[in-house]
Order: sequence, then structure tokens, then C-alpha cells
Amino acid sequence: MEKDEILKQLNPEQASAAGTVNGPVLVLAGAGTGKTRVITFRIAYMLACGIPPQMILGMTFTNKAAREMRERLAQLVQPQIARKVTLGTFHSFCIKILRRDIAKLGYLPSFTIADESDQQGVLKQAAGQLGCNYEGFPLGEVQSMIGRWKNKLFFPEDARRHADTTFEATAAQLYEEYQTLLEMQNSLDFDDMLLLVYRLFTEHPDVLERYRETYQYLLIDEYQDTNAAQFTIVKLLTGDRCNLCVVGDDDQSIYSWRGADISNILGFPDHFPGAKVVKLEQNYRSTTSILNAANVVIGSNANRHEKQLWSNLGDGEPVKIVTTENGESEAEFIGSMITQMKNDKPELRYQDFAILYRSNHLSRQLEQTLRRQQIPYRLVGGQEFFKRREIKDAVAYLKLLVNPCDDQSLLRILGTPPRGLAQKAVDSLKTGRRAKHKPMFELLAEEEFQKELTPKAAAAAREFAEVYAKYKERFAEPGALAWKITEFLKEIGYLDGLQRIYKDLKDAMKRRENVDEFITAITQYEERQAEPPTLEAYLENLALLEESDKVEEETGTVDAVTLMTVHASKGLEFPVVFVVAMERNIFPHERALEEGSVEEELRLFYVAITRARKYLYLLRAKERMQRGITRATLPSPFLHLLTDEVAERTTPEELLRPASEDEVRQAFANIFKILKSDQ
Ligand code: ATP
Ligand code: MG
Repeated sequence: MEKDEILKQLNPEQASAAGTVNGPVLVLAGAGTGKTRVITFRIAYMLACGIPPQMILGMTFTNKAAREMRERLAQLVQPQIARKVTLGTFHSFCIKILRRDIAKLGYLPSFTIADESDQQGVLKQAAGQLGCNYEGFPLGEVQSMIGRWKNKLFFPEDARRHADTTFEATAAQLYEEYQTLLEMQNSLDFDDMLLLVYRLFTEHPDVLERYRETYQYLLIDEYQDTNAAQFTIVKLLTGDRCNLCVVGDDDQSIYSWRGADISNILGFPDHFPGAKVVKLEQNYRSTTSILNAANVVIGSNANRHEKQLWSNLGDGEPVKIVTTENGESEAEFIGSMITQMKNDKPELRYQDFAILYRSNHLSRQLEQTLRRQQIPYRLVGGQEFFKRREIKDAVAYLKLLVNPCDDQSLLRILGTPPRGLAQKAVDSLKTGRRAKHKPMFELLAEEEFQKELTPKAAAAAREFAEVYAKYKERFAEPGALAWKITEFLKEIGYLDGLQRIYKDLKDAMKRRENVDEFITAITQYEERQAEPPTLEAYLENLALLEESDKVEEETGTVDAVTLMTVHASKGLEFPVVFVVAMERNIFPHERALEEGSVEEELRLFYVAITRARKYLYLLRAKERMQRGITRATLPSPFLHLLTDEVAERTTPEELLRPASEDEVRQAFANIFKILKSDQ
């Protein structure tokens, strides 16, 4: 497409942002005003101007958003050119850099990524080494504190210097030990990805210079949710050129709990002098009724840049606040409403509906009901599947294959299933690790170490090491992952061992099914790749999946209702949106009240409302079961903001029309189907 044609599809303000290719540009604007569209079109415009695609780096908040952006871009420019643009999350970009250059920091390029439970393990180990009795010590709190420090680019010595309380001082000590242990295991936690890229760029100016030459044009979506580490990396990377375009909305800042710093966006003109600042007010997403509700909600927040959203999409249907008897009837109402709306409006498909909630656990009731009503749905995030013990064990087996220094993974699997390596062997591995500064896996394979074991244990250790050596070679070649992984897990004794880990036969069978499902997921991953992937690449994809809001691994393009948290819905849009459990202590979250972050909760509510294009239902149940107990609820104070002028208060009975004869027949047929399948 020609340059001018690209800009013609934007309004004048959007076009001025997209058409300004050199120097810093900030688009600060409300929801649905086309910020993401500006980013995509700006990339297309740059390509049309002849800027090489390899020089363009676009960063967004989730992998899903990055993928969508690439798809949109592919409609504007030739796909083979779109493919050459680097688009991804901060974390995926950082991994890419580290795979290439991490050796300069003393790590091996085969590093693995520690997930939350690995982190806990390492932290416990650190506590043990410091002789700190962690049983009563809030290690979970230390863990998040370390995360916050890293996001502020605090190294252990900075943490120590800034520690005000004894707790913080101990936490800083733990941080130091934790970091040493992780490094020894050639393992990175999530926040390390940013921290280490920062170290790389500051300690090795030549490397930074190389990346500055490679990526001369930067674009960042959802800039309001960047943290100090991300900001600094961007600042370093843009250098004097400052070819940087950021877009965001201060009203949608919802990640301060993870270190996001709103002053990055509000202070942009100071950080990048001479910045062109563009404001957008026309919303292209939602009806006026929905925008009225959004404006009222966000308008009640103090300390904000006044913005009024408007659209010319007409008033549309009023926003509805629906009160139901309990959580169950809430879910039933949603299911029936989806069916009814689909009947009345044939243009609507399942994928046009989204159900949003404040916390993951609220999805359970919805899932159960939708399943019963035979409504296809897709649960986004809350990657419970990958958190199952048997899957984590399988992943640990694989991680060790890629990174033999990964003690944490070795400890996890050595006795899973039991293979005659008793606690004593494990203890001497731990001692040997400290004394010899060698990875446990290396020790295990050494004859000297094996000599200390019983003959049976020694044989087990030898066999273990041999299978690993064999498969390390096999995996050196990319491709055929699912097949090789199955063979490996068989030969290393994991698959048949499940029966010995989970003594109950039914349980063991279920676990085996899950591992099979895991293999299926790997097959699907392989099918999605353009080239045969390496095991490393797969594990990386898995780790990134854990992070980035867990918005991933949806199964392609099936037509299904989307269930997700409000956090995960950022940047997305749906014709019909249901927000459930608008109740006090749920939304706003009870923790928010304690921590005084009600304003952030309100912004979160604003994000929820502004996902809707045509129909918005806010639901509240009079009673809700939580942690096994049913309690009466109070409506969310947020609902009080929505006066009768902006929202209609109603009940399921008023909205659902009586079922037609046809529908009754269909419902009966469904019930029979279920009864049959239960037999
Ligand atoms: P959010 O704050 O939720 O991330 P956003 O500002 O990024 O929203 P987009 O997702 O880019 O908004 O745009 C919202 C919708 O409006 C999209 O469907 C987009 O295609 C459409 N849109 C934006 N600008 C225009 C335009 N100039 N002409 C037609 N449609 C537009
Ligand atoms: Mg957007």
C-alpha cells in the first residue's frame, strides 16, 4: 500500500502521529481511540517509506497482542516483510538478546527460566544457607519484594543500602544469596530478563551500540504499564536518535502492583525533550451509552488528565446492571442470555462474547454452567493445566536436558519416581554442590561420587546420566519434539513411573492422560512454527506463557465465548461483555481497600467497561459462595457511581423472554445427551 493511502485510513490526529517517523512521539488517549491502530499503521507507513523491517522494534504487553498486531500488519504490507519486523513483549525481546549475548555476563546461553515454584525452592535453599529459619518467615513476601527490587533495577547491594527495617535487611541478604544460587544454576527468573539486559547494556557499551544500530525505530503499546526497568532499557536503546513512539492511557494503568510507574507516560515530554504529543478523543469502539458509563466511572478518580470519550456510533442499548439471586443463577443467566442473543441476532457468534472477572477463581462456576448449557468457551489465562504437578515434573525433566546446571529441576525429579536414590544421595549431592561448586547433575554423573553410594543407587545414577547424555545429543537437532520427548520420558522412567508416584490407579491414569495432553500441546506448538523448533525454544515459549498475563495457548480460531480476568482483557474488544461479581470485596478487591489502591481498582473497572462495543452487562449476585461458604453480598460501591441515567437496573426475568417451543425441545435434547454421556 502507498504511504498516503495508509494515512488516509486514520483521522488527522492519528495520521500525524503515524506520519511522524523521526523523534519522540507520545499518544496519550483514552480507551478505544485507536492507539494500537496508530502503532500498526505507523509501522506500515515506515515500511512504505523504505525503512528496513529489521530496524523496527514493536513492543506490546502480551504475546496475544503482539500476534494480533502482526496479523493486522500483514493485511497492510506483504506478509514476508511483516514477518521481518520484531514484534513481541518486553520479555520475549529480552530473552532474544540474552540468548545471544548472555555469555558476557558469565551465564551460559543455555539458561533456563525459573518459574514461581522454582523461585520458591531457590529462596528456601538461600534461607537454609543463611541459617534462617524460614518456617515462620514470610518467604512469599520476600519473593515479591525481590521482584519489586529487580523491577526498580536494584541489585542486592542497592537493596541492602535502601533497607529500612530489619525485615528488609534480611530480605536483602536473602536476595543476594538467592541471586548467587540462581546464577550458579544458570537459571533466570522473570525479572532477571530485564535486569540482565540492563546490565548487558550498561556494562558492555559495544553491545548496546550494536543493538542501537539494529533497532533504530521503537514503538511501544500500553506504555502506561511499563516499569522502571523497561523504561531504562528503552531509554538506553533509543540513544540520541530517540526514534520512539509510545502510546498509552494513564486511565488504564493497572499494573502498579507489579512495579508499573505511571510517571513514565506522564513524564514522557520531560524524558524525551521535543516530543510530539498527540491526544485522541474520538472512540471508534463503543456506543455512546457505554462511553457515558465509562466517563462517569473514570471521572470520579481524582488526579487525572481530564479526557472525555465520545463516539458517533449512536446511543445503542443502555448499560444493564443485573441482580441475580446467587452465583449459580448469575452463570445461568449469562448462558441463557448468550443463547437468546445469538438466536435474536444471527450475526453474533460465540467469539463475540466475553465474560470478565476480577479474580481467576470466579471462573469455576461459569465454566461449570457453560459446559452444562453446551456453550463453547475458552478460558484465557489461569494456566492451571501447566501448574499441575505431573506437568511441572515433566517440564523439569526437559529443563535439565537443556541446562544441566539447573539443580532445582534435578532435585525435583530425582526421586520422581523413586529410583533408588534415597535421601542420603540427595544430601551428599547438596554437600558436594557446596564444597565443589559443581552443578549437581555433573556430580551425579561422576564416578567419584557414585562410589560413595550403594551399588543400587550408583547404578541408578549412572543410568540416569546415560539417558540424559543420549538425549542431549538427540535434541541437539531441532524438530520432532513431541516424538523425542515421549521417547525420552519413557526411557528416563517417568511415564511408567507415574504409577509409583501416584499410587491410586485412577489418579495415576488421570495424570498420564494429562502428560499425554501436554505432548499434544507440544505437537500443536510445533505445527504453529514456521521452522522445526528446538527444545530450548519450546521451553522458552512455555515460560513466557506463564508470564505475560497468561493470555495464551488458546486453541486457534474455534468459535467460543472468552472467559478471562479484566487484567488480561486489556487492549481487546468484544461486541458483548459481561462483568460478573460486581460486589464489595470482590470488585474492588478486598486487598485494594486495605492497601489504599481503590483508584487502581476503579481504573480496572474502566478497562472492563471499555472492552464492550455494543452490549454491556454488569452482574451482581445477592449471595455468593466463597471458600465453601455462602454469604450475603453487598453491591460494589462502583455500581453506585452508575446512576439510573447511565445504567438500567434490572433482573434476569425482565431480560430473558420465555423460551420458545423450539428452544424447549433443544434444551431437552441437550439434557438427554448429558444423561447419556453420564452413564
Ligand atoms: P485500548 O485503549 O483499549 O487499547 P486503543 O486506543 O488501542 O484501545 P484500538 O484498539 O486501536 O484502540 O481501536 C479501537 C477500535 O477502533 C478498533 O476496532 C479500531 O480498528 C477502530 N478504529 C480506531 N481508529 C479508527 C479509525 N480512524 N477509523 C476506523 N476505525 C478505527
Ligand atoms: Mg490498544
